Amino acid sequence: MPEISFANVVKRYGKVVAVDDLSFTIHDGEYLGLLGPSGCGKTTTLRMISGLIKPTSGNILWDGKSMEKLDPQDRDIGYVFQHFAIFPHLTIQENIAFGAIARGLAPRDVEAVVEEYSKVVGLQDKLDQYAKNLDAPDLQRVGLARVLAKGAKTLLLDEPLGALDHKIRERFQDELLRLVKDLNLTAIHVTHDQNEAMAISDRIGVMKKGKMIQVGTPNDLLFEPREIFTSHFIGESDFLEGVIIKSTGTHNEILVLGDSILQVPMSIPAPSMYEEVVVGIRREFFEILPLKADEKKRDLPPNFIHGTVITDRFVGEKRRTFIRLRYGRSIEVKRRPNGRPFKRGDDIKIYIHPNAVVVFNQPHQNLEREMEVT
Ligand code: ATP
Repeated sequence: MPEISFANVVKRYGKVVAVDDLSFTIHDGEYLGLLGPSGCGKTTTLRMISGLIKPTSGNILWDGKSMEKLDPQDRDIGYVFQHFAIFPHLTIQENIAFGAIARGLAPRDVEAVVEEYSKVVGLQDKLDQYAKNLDAPDLQRVGLARVLAKGAKTLLLDEPLGALDHKIRERFQDELLRLVKDLNLTAIHVTHDQNEAMAISDRIGVMKKGKMIQVGTPNDLLFEPREIFTSHFIGESDFLEGVIIKSTGTHNEILVLGDSILQVPMSIPAPSMYEEVVVGIRREFFEILPLKADEKKRDLPPNFIHGTVITDRFVGEKRRTFIRLRYGRSIEVKRRPNGRPFKRGDDIKIYIHPNAVVVFNQPHQNLEREMEVT
C-alpha cells in the first residue's frame, strides 16, 4: 500500500532509451493502468518498480524512501504475469501454501493464509484439485492467491488477462479490481488494451516511446486529452486541421476544410489569430443528418460540414458510417444501432457538437507521425 514516485527515471539499453525521464506518482491504494503501444516502455517501468532492473538515472521512491538497496524478494510486491509458473502436480492448496511458506510462516499460519486467500479468489471449494487440471482463469486465480499469500501489498500486473478469452477477461477485470480494493493493495497493471485500462483503472498512465504522455482518470483522458496521441489512442477520434479566424474570451472560430467554420471552446492556452491547429472529434460525437435539396450548393451554418456517405454498416453493436468530406478527407462516425440508415452516395451534412471537440496546437511533425503508435 505504499506511494511509489518516479523522479526523472531513465533506463537505457546501449543506445535504446527504453524509459525516458519518467516522473509520476502511484498513490497509496490506487489501481494504476499503464497503457501504450508495444515497445513504449511499460514492462521496463514495471520491472524497475519490482527492483529486477535498476534505472540508469533518476530515483524511484517508496513513501519517499529509496528502495535501491532492497532486493526484489524483500519488497512486498507480487508480480502477476500472463502465464504463472504454477506447479502442475501440486494441488491448489499446495500451490497457495507455497507462497505462505516462502514468507516463512508457521504451519498453522500457512493453513489460515491458504484459507483466507483461496476465499478471496473464489477457489475455496477446489483446494484438492490438481493445478494441471485447471482452466486458464482458475490458474490465474491460483497465481494471484499465491502472491497474496506471500504477503504482497503491491501488485505488478503485466498483461495478466492476456491468456483469457474475451468474456472471461471482462469478468476477471471485476474480480481483480474488487480484490485490490477489498485488500487495500496498490496495483500497477500493464496493458496495451485501452478498453481494459479504462474499465479497471483509477488513473491511467499513457506511454509513448519511453515517455509518459499523460496520467489521468479515464474521464480526463477521454475528454481532456493533452496530446493528439492520447486522443487517438484512447477511444477513437478523427482530426481536422484548421486555422483560428476568431478568438475572443467567449467566441472562437476555426476554419476547416477550406470554408467550413467550427465555433468551439478553445482548449489551448493563448491561441493567436491565424494559428494553425488540429481539431480532435470523438467518433461518437458526430451527428449525421440528411441534406436538404436547397443546402447542396450553399454554405452551411457553423459546425455543419457537407459530406457523402461511403459505407454504413454494423461493426459489433454500433453503426459505423464512413463519410467523404472535401479535399480527400474522410471521417468515420460511430452511431447508435437504431440510428437512421444511409446508403452509399447519400449527400449528408455532419454536425459537430461544440463541446465534443478538443483543439490541439499543430504538431511539430506532421499529424500522421504524431498519431503513429509504433
Ligand atoms: P510490449 O507491450 O511489447 O511488451 P513494452 O511497452 O512493455 O512493450 P518494453 O518491453 O519495456 O516495452 O521495451 C521498451 C524498449 O526497450 C523496446 O524498444 C525494447 O526493445 C527495449 N528493451 C527492453 N528490454 C531490453 C533489453 N533487455 N535489452 C535491450 N533492449 C531492451
